[in-house]
Amino acid sequence: MTLFDSPSFEDHEGVHAFSDEKSGLKCIIAVHSTARGPAAGGCRMWPYASADDALEDALKLSRAMSYKNAMADLALGGGKSVILGDSRTQKTPALFEAFGRAIEAVGGRYWTAEDVGVSPEDLASARKQTRYVAGLDGHPAASGDPSPVTAEGVFRGIQLCVRRALKRDLGGVRVAIQGVGHVGGYLAEKLHAAGAKLVITDVNPETLNRVASATKATIVSPGAIFDADVDVFAPCALGGAINLDTLPRIRARVIAGAANNQLADAAAGRDLFQRGILYAPDYVINGGGIINVAGEIRALDRGEAFDPAWVDAKLDHLALTLEEVLDQALHERRPTNEVANQIARSRISGEASSKAAA
Ligand code: NAD
Repeated sequence: MTLFDSPSFEDHEGVHAFSDEKSGLKCIIAVHSTARGPAAGGCRMWPYASADDALEDALKLSRAMSYKNAMADLALGGGKSVILGDSRTQKTPALFEAFGRAIEAVGGRYWTAEDVGVSPEDLASARKQTRYVAGLDGHPAASGDPSPVTAEGVFRGIQLCVRRALKRDLGGVRVAIQGVGHVGGYLAEKLHAAGAKLVITDVNPETLNRVASATKATIVSPGAIFDADVDVFAPCALGGAINLDTLPRIRARVIAGAANNQLADAAAGRDLFQRGILYAPDYVINGGGIINVAGEIRALDRGEAFDPAWVDAKLDHLALTLEEVLDQALHERRPTNEVANQIARSRISGEASSKAAA
């Protein structure tokens, strides 16, 4: 199969491969769309088994960023970069400086930030060679850790879904959280403060015990979280939690959480719909993190300080977008994930055609 035939290519505007012999950098920068603005999405460093695997990951992630940014109502397109290598053994400042030069060569059509395997220190090295880097510490435009903002967006989304599916507020609602790391931990605190009863799990016992004692949560093993007798299931760990094996065990009426790629495949989305479970599409409800990063890009572009009020207004808007998805899905009797994809595509193509007409 050639690059253009790959289902993940889906009209990418540009796919750029860079190598730097001296530092050992091998990276791919995928720009899916700049119809709404410069493409934005993090950089992942991962020991891919092959360059083909790295390319496939970059294409999938970059298209997903176009959809996420459009649904978060940001003036940003979608892009992503991947560095081929082991972040535990192959990182050097020179490698990230070379990565910075690669971003600069894309000419401002792509902004990078943190993703798996990449830290603020790495980004500081890249920043020496290009200004198109968000997620740095210690300057007035800096946005800081996005996790609390992601958690706030997910919290508001859960509130909305519970109101719609269960016709009640969060007091006494039983919520299972899979993964209480950065986002899941903040989410647990917010839900506890709102009166929800929590069942939590994590593969890290230290994190699990800390969050449980702060939120009076019941602890279950990672394998048992799918069987918990709860109203809401909030996947906040890794992708693929909702699949044809786990779905028959889930007793919740609402699935709404922070994790990316919660549905293992399209069949899981259709199965959810047939079971009458209300699913908040992951890339809509977890848009708070990219909104926070967008706040930093905006501040850097304007030479201003980071503005939390702008971020908060965007979070309000995100809840309205989630409501739009749920309304349309109800009206058309279709799975929410399919409706979200359709709205995202039309927001992107609508922007592209209005630019073309101008
Ligand atoms: P994190 O690594 O801090 O937390 C994930 C937690 O899940 C960890 O505590 C880990 O031990 C636990 N975990 C891993 N496998 C598990 C399993 N099988 N069962 C139970 N627990 C398990 O990551 P995070 O930043 O909190 O992100 C969580 C999810 O949300 C990820 O999918 C991430 O891509 C997504 N997300 C995060 C942000 C953000 O702002 N951090 C934004 C958007 C989406």
